[in-house]
Amino acid sequence: MATQRLFLALFPSHTIQRRLAEAGRALQAHVGGRCVATPLLHLTLAFLGDTSDDIVPALCDRLAAVSCASFDLTLDQVGVWPQAGIGWMQPTQPPAALWQLHRSIQQQLQALGLPVEQRAFKPHITLLRKAPPSRGPLPPCPAIDWPVTTFQLIASTLTTNGPQYRPLASWPLASA
Ligand code: ATP
Ligand code: MG
Repeated sequence: MATQRLFLALFPSHTIQRRLAEAGRALQAHVGGRCVATPLLHLTLAFLGDTSDDIVPALCDRLAAVSCASFDLTLDQVGVWPQAGIGWMQPTQPPAALWQLHRSIQQQLQALGLPVEQRAFKPHITLLRKAPPSRGPLPPCPAIDWPVTTFQLIASTLTTNGPQYRPLASWPLASA
């Protein structure tokens, strides 16, 4: 049976992706590393990895049952995780609805017998890869306000030119 490498994510508008890319370049100027391509910038909710095609219809049914209100995410902090070599931007105060969305997705994945991440969810957007450890404090960055209204199921293909993401389905969050 064929498989696809799947993940669930929040994808911002092009305007917000451009602001995130600016934040990435500013961080890169301080710490180095490689900027993630602007159209690929996203926040991962759950990584499913290689998933059999025959489970995708049931997965989509389950994800359509996720109930969560739309929310505003204020991204207001940049940093580096030195061991992973990742430069990131994150909300210092994620809204309750984001935790609820994540929990609800985990429950639906578990109900299908799919593997779920045991580590604590750290909502962030990867801006840089191969980032060396930062030396000294990072400059403050302008906050980015992101109205989150949908979440998506994405198929990822890894190529020598970087990953290619293909949206398979998208679900709206309830109007707040
Ligand atoms: P590349 O692996 O070539 O750097 P990528 O990480 O963007 O590209 P994928 O590896 O397909 O592409 O990952 C898709 C998303 O899932 C990314 O946000 C990635 O950080 C996340 N991810 C990948 N592997 C895992 C994992 N084992 N655990 C948690 N999240 C993961
Ligand atoms: Mg990866």
